[in-house]
Amino acid sequence: MDDNDDVVIIGAGICGLATALALHKKGIKGVVMERSESLRNVTGAGIAVRPNGWRALDQLGVAEILRHTAVPLNWYLIHCFLGLFCF
Ligand SMILES: Cc1cc2nc3c(=O)[nH]c(=O)nc-3n(C[C@H](O)[C@H](O)[C@H](O)COP(=O)(O)OP(=O)(O)OC[C@H]3O[C@@H](n4cnc5c(N)ncnc54)[C@H](O)[C@@H]3O)c2cc1C
Repeated sequence: MDDNDDVVIIGAGICGLATALALHKKGIKGVVMERSESLRNVTGAGIAVRPNGWRALDQLGVAEILRHTAVPLNWYLIHCFLGLFCF
């Protein structure tokens, strides 16, 4: 962080990084502060992005890159302690 940063963003989760990218595209200088020392290991997990999320990724200019590795989900199941939810 230095005196030239206009915005300080706390947290390098998807919201913090998306905010940083959006500000950068507008020419606004910022810095992202993250308390974790490393990326968390999420081997085997996936991220489900719904249509509004894809629209946001399109706006940020990264959707086209991500579409190459994304797999469309036609349906999925969620198991919880109350039972099984189908979407
Ligand atoms: C098991 C699980 C599965 C999920 N699956 C999906 C999914 O498939 N699709 C989906 O859309 N969403 C999913 N979610 C929800 C999704 O993870 C959250 O909505 C999303 O990560 C929120 O992003 P965020 O950037 O707001 O917060 P986070 O991802 O929580 O990031 C916040 C960051 O801020 C950092 N931080 C916090 N406090 C400080 C501080 N004081 N100083 C510095 N750094 C700090 C943290 O270390 C963290 O890196 C899932 C959540 C869980 C728990």
